[in-house]
Amino acid sequence: MANDPECLFCRIASGEIPSKQAFADEAVVAFHDIAPRAPTHILLIPREHIRSAAELTDDDAPIVGHLFAVAARVARDQGISDAGYRIVTNIGRGGGQTVDHLHLHLMGGRSMTWPPG
Ligand code: AMP
Ligand code: ZN
Repeated sequence: MANDPECLFCRIASGEIPSKQAFADEAVVAFHDIAPRAPTHILLIPREHIRSAAELTDDDAPIVGHLFAVAARVARDQGISDAGYRIVTNIGRGGGQTVDHLHLHLMGGRSMTWPPG
């Protein structure tokens, strides 16, 4: 499975850089954001290095489906599911992306405003 030794999230997925994990399996890792913007703020990443959602193809359908299923499971485990929560993925610098490895932000534990800034 392709990864990038220079990539922060590849290094978190491998365990080289420590994180506070919420869930992990053979394909996906979920860990708490180091600078949370909500009471619950967890990042979900594929172990495979995919730069962003803009790089996805139809071949990635299984991993994307799995990422969302894991996000729903983690939301339930964290107790934010009933109240509702938000899943966001930023794309490119203008979209607010700072780490170029596909990730879902799972945010909850407070009311969300719309639209995001
Ligand atoms: P984005 O700006 O959408 O690319 O999201 C990157 C996220 O990664 C930000 O919310 C950061 O706070 C978070 N982040 C950066 N470094 C770490 C780290 N070492 N552990 C956990 N989260 C991190
Ligand atoms: Zn990576």
